[in-house]
Amino acid sequence: MAEIVASAASLNPFAIAQHQFDTAADILKLDPRLRAVLREPVRELHVSLPVRMDNGDVKLFKGFRVQYNDARGPSKGGIRFHPDETVDTVRALAAWMTWKTAVMDLPLGGGKGGIICNPKQLSERELERLSRAYIDAIAWIMGPERDIPAPDVYTTPQIMGWMMDEYSKLRGHSTPGAITGKPLSLWGSLGRDDATARGAWYAVREAARVIDLDLSRARVAIQGFGNAGTFAATLGIELFGASIVAVTDSNGGIFRSNGLDIDQVLAHKKSTGSVVGFPGSEAISNADVLEVDADILIPAALENQITARNAPDVKARIVAEAANGPTTPEADTILHHRKVFVIPDFLCNAGGVTVSYFEWVQNQRGMPWELEDVHRRLDRKMTRAFGEVLAAARQHNVDMRTGAYCVAVARVAEATRARGWA
Ligand code: GLU
Repeated sequence: MAEIVASAASLNPFAIAQHQFDTAADILKLDPRLRAVLREPVRELHVSLPVRMDNGDVKLFKGFRVQYNDARGPSKGGIRFHPDETVDTVRALAAWMTWKTAVMDLPLGGGKGGIICNPKQLSERELERLSRAYIDAIAWIMGPERDIPAPDVYTTPQIMGWMMDEYSKLRGHSTPGAITGKPLSLWGSLGRDDATARGAWYAVREAARVIDLDLSRARVAIQGFGNAGTFAATLGIELFGASIVAVTDSNGGIFRSNGLDIDQVLAHKKSTGSVVGFPGSEAISNADVLEVDADILIPAALENQITARNAPDVKARIVAEAANGPTTPEADTILHHRKVFVIPDFLCNAGGVTVSYFEWVQNQRGMPWELEDVHRRLDRKMTRAFGEVLAAARQHNVDMRTGAYCVAVARVAEATRARGWA
């Protein structure tokens, strides 16, 4: 039975999410009724979106919005545009958002959205029409008090701007609190752009204290060069003087043992479209980057990257999961036995949703904050959550992921029980 669960889990992100939840539910001796409620999403909407393409044709896109649990507050979570999107991936990501907002003790629930599409093959006008069509289809289950979307893989502040505008048109008045991660001109928050990576570095700073690692001498490898990956590289240097030895994007990667000049790598990516071929670097693949000689590994791309196959070869002492779901349960067990300090995704990358929460608060109040207030409050939230997770992991003698689940599931379970749902 355990093996069946493990092999199913290694294929399907939602099976993984449920498997992780079950581990924590066992430790917490969760009431079976609560367990049944918290194992499944409360609501999901599947939509078909006819979109007029620039050549006059109409193309049908499939999309989803999953609200996993809203016992603690409105659902919150990003929208992904990806050709390989599946409803099970969105379910898993919605579950992880629920545990993420709970571990950070935000007054929010968890949700996620996705559209099956390849945004790289769409024109700007097509992307805008698709974004507006999605909001037209899900508007009746979203809103500042119901469900608040945000950016995720391949979605941008501009896309959030169109979506907020579409939602506002449907309501008949400007509704900035309906979407976060917006452009600053539409009352996005200062500090939302680098929040995921900044929060991850605050968590790494705490982990480095635990294992006694000097960050100013640390060598860092980063998989993925989107929002989280690029800011993870620049902030690692800016905040701690770390050395970034390897980065990859969807085309491949580069390695330089003496450290990469990230400003120049960014300029290279801007002019060529990829980090690949950066002068003075060695070519590596997206699989190689997980095994390079580094102290800190930051997976900042997609799910299921660190598996039973490559986990024995991870050299890093800290794995900081800026991506959602990058490590399979089998790999988790291997890393834990090898004493690699894994900062689990829904703690490590929670800086994004935390500043999204700040953005929502600013929008609801109509009162913008200073950047330093955002940074100070984010640091406080990350540091506190890290400490609570570490304490739970030590108390139950489990890894950090299971510790994080224990903290988060207990909070959502208590709210669910107090509402009388189970
Ligand atoms: N998509 C990000 C995440 O996975 C941010 C979600 C949000 O800001 O609501 O946490």
